[in-house]
Order: sequence, then C-alpha cells, then structure tokens
Amino acid sequence: MSTYVTTNPTTGTTEQEFTGLPDDQISVVAERAAEGFEEWRRTPVAERARALARTADLYEERATELAAAITKEMGKPAQEAAEEVQLAADIYRWYAEHGPDLLTTERLDPQGAEESVVQTLPIGPLVGVMPWNYPYYQVARFAAPNLLLGNSIILKHASICAASSKLMADVLHEASVPENAYINVYASSGQIAELLAHPAIRGVSLTGSERAGAAVATEAAKNLKKSVLELGGSDPFILLDTDDMAETVRVAARARLSNAGQACNSPKRFIVLDDLYDDFVQGLVAEFERAVVGDPSDPETEVGPLSSVTARDTVADQIRTAVRQGATLHTGGKPLDGDGAFLAPAVLTGITPEMDAYSEEIFGPAAMVYRVFSADEAVRLANDVEFGLSGSVWSTDTARAAEVADRLDVGMAYINEHGTTLPGLPFGGVNRSGYGRELGRWGMGEFVNAKLRRTA
Ligand code: NDP
Repeated sequence: MSTYVTTNPTTGTTEQEFTGLPDDQISVVAERAAEGFEEWRRTPVAERARALARTADLYEERATELAAAITKEMGKPAQEAAEEVQLAADIYRWYAEHGPDLLTTERLDPQGAEESVVQTLPIGPLVGVMPWNYPYYQVARFAAPNLLLGNSIILKHASICAASSKLMADVLHEASVPENAYINVYASSGQIAELLAHPAIRGVSLTGSERAGAAVATEAAKNLKKSVLELGGSDPFILLDTDDMAETVRVAARARLSNAGQACNSPKRFIVLDDLYDDFVQGLVAEFERAVVGDPSDPETEVGPLSSVTARDTVADQIRTAVRQGATLHTGGKPLDGDGAFLAPAVLTGITPEMDAYSEEIFGPAAMVYRVFSADEAVRLANDVEFGLSGSVWSTDTARAAEVADRLDVGMAYINEHGTTLPGLPFGGVNRSGYGRELGRWGMGEFVNAKLRRTA
C-alpha cells in the first residue's frame, strides 16, 4: 500500500496525505468495476450522454475550486488552470453531443439474402494511468469517450494529483455516473500490474513517460489486454519565413513556456532557416527574460514552478549536461532561490547529435534552437529523433508549409500554429511517442468491440 502525499511546488510545503489502496482491495476494485460495467453498458446511451453533459456543467460551475486545486498541487498558473478546466468541460460536452451518433450500427452491403451488421459496443472495465501535467484534460480525453461508450473506468492519477483526482471522481458521481463505473484509486505501480492481471480488466490507457508506458504496456501484453499510450515528444517548430518576426517570437515563447514547458506536445526544438536565425534567437532570449516567473496564483505570472523540485532538478541537470557537452546557454537554466520548484527559462543553441539533449525530451521551460540552410535540412533534423508526437511549420506561404508538414513523421502536423487541441480533433503520436488516438471519433474507437452479427 502506498500513501499519496501532495506538496505545493510553489512553497515546498506538504499539503495533504491520502491513504493508498490496501493490497487486499485490488481484486475488490476490479470486481466493482465489472459490476459497474454491467450496470453502465445497460444504461441507455441518452442517459450516459446526459451524465457527461451534466459533468461539463459541473466543471463550469465549480471552475474556481477545480482550477485552484491544480494551481496548488502542480503549480499551474491561474489563467492556464481556468483554461484547462474549460477544455475538460468542452470535451465532456463534445462527447455528450456527438458521442451517441458515433455509436453506429453499420449495415454491410447484402450479398444475397443474408444480413451483416457491425455494432459499436464497449469492451469492459478499463484502467487509466494519468500524469500530473494537465490533470483534468488528460483524464477527460480518456474518460469522456469511454464512459459514453459504456466502458467502466478505474483511474490511477499521478500521486501528486491526489486532490484533483478526488474532485474529478466527485464531479462524475454527482453527474450520475455510478460509483462503480468510475473508481478513483490511489494505487502504486505494482498494484496497477496486479489490476491488469485481473480477468475483469480489458484494457489500459496511459499518458506519461516512456518508462511508465513501457512498464504498463508490458503488463498489459502479458495479460493480453489492449493498451493505448500517449508518451513524450520533442516537437519541432520549423520557421521557414515570416513577415512579423516579433509576433513569431512571441508566439514561439508562449507555446514553449505554457505550463512551465511541461507539455508532451510543446515545441521543444526550434528549427530556423539561416537568414532568420540570429533575429529569432535574440528575440526568443528577450521573450524568455521578460516572462514573469513566480507564484502561479498571481494573475500576472506567466511561468509557474515545475511540478516538483525533482522535476525541476532533472531539467536543470539536462541543461547543465548540454552545456558541459558543448552547447551554448544564452539565458536561464538555473533554479531560482527559495523553496519552490522554479527554473529560469533557458535558451540553448549549438546542440549536436552527440549530445544527450539532441535526442532527449526536456520537460520544462527550455528551448533548443537549431540553424538550418534549407527546408530539406529542416525536415531531416525534425525527423531525426525517436519521438513523433506533433510538429509545426511556419511560413507566409501555406502551400510550401503544407509540403514540409506532410514530410514530418508525427501524429499531428500544424501550419502557423502549434498544439491546438480541440475535442473533435485526434490527438496522438507515432514511434516512441506512443500509439492509439484520443479525442474526436478516434478516441471512441480504441476500446470498442466492433461486433459482427450476421443472419443467414
Ligand atoms: P510518469 O510517467 O512516471 O507518471 C505518469 C503516470 O504513470 C503517473 O500516474 C505515475 O504514477 C504512473 N506510473 C509511473 N510508473 C508506473 C508504472 N511502472 N506502472 C504504473 N503506473 C506508473 O511521469 P513522471 O511524473 O515521472 O515524469 C517523468 C517524465 O515523463 C517527464 O519528465 C516527461 O518527460 C514525461 N511525461 C510525459 C507526459 C505527457 O504528457 N506525455 C506527462 C508526464 C510526464 P505516480 O505518479 O504514482 O508515479
């Protein structure tokens, strides 16, 4: 049994302790989820949709409380926390409105007298393992489509998000999702492995690190359960040309520093054509130095602390290693004085393939800028990592940008924007960024029994 302890990363103070799931309760939880599944799958879809619509309303009604909880437990600036709560509400509402139409029964072309139909059905209890960087959004994009489908859920959130994960469960239950159709657990990694071995469980979705993804996917595979993985990324931001460098740099800095740089699909590698490179680096350094780093509950703050001192120290170490290996640090990269998990935003250049930073994800407020001499070289560099989550191409010539975007080995390619997430758009990556898709109709296609019924 593990205890979840939450620590405020702004102050370093311990906030709360949550008692973990006792070992003898693992099979009890799995069996409860199986009962929840039987009840929930038989609940008419219109009622399931109403529960999701009500969930969306409750997120909006309780927005202040929900936003404050994540500002306290993982340090998200107040404005971004409010936006995340709204995005989660939008996702629940999107599935409430569009989900029922996606539960199709497709009639295949008759080949004589016989009839073949394919129904879209749930598969059973699922486990969700979710990370701390977007506590509400990450859960919503897994829970909303699967609850609409009729699957039941056991949710293990990151241990630092114990308070917000309880709030999420409370909201769903208040919205009439049965207690056994959505179960919040404070489980350890070992207990997740045991849950996945339980015969009642049918699948698992994880968002997080490659290490956690590989561990959970291994357990799932051993037990012949389906998995969906949304892992890290080192997204390229390719700048081909611009007619407004000041604005391009502002947008680039905002995208990189959002959530203190702790987003899987944040642009982490800025790949800039030679004639723009010097101005871009100079502009980005100025933006990073201007960004207000501080208390995330202060509305003026643009960059809050990282999620923990350990997370901050990992990023600071990666930057130090890059410099030791020959990279140039133009600004930032040092922990700020005090007990909080703050790091001054960093700009690195001169990264070469031999350096660790070239191939690693830096999960914090640090930008790596590369100089290239052609669009072909930009594409080669962009694709020369094992990740493949998303990427963006920036140009006044959108046709030229589209040609480049089409050559990126990613799950999501953007032109003149980076990382837009909407409930109806698919989200997911290729290669070591994971497999499977979330959101939109694709998010409802992962844990589905596409069941054939054929009548002779
Ligand atoms: P983890 O991947 O360790 O945590 C994500 C979730 O997985 C948490 O709920 C965690 O639980 C759980 N978990 C971890 N290991 C296992 C396991 N073996 N079995 C079952 N569940 C497990 O992320 P970290 O917090 O350690 O962050 C490390 C790095 O991961 C970051 O620096 C970043 O590179 C990447 N990351 C990527 C994210 C993304 O959005 N793609 C999100 C978060 C991190 P617990 O909290 O209890 O350990």
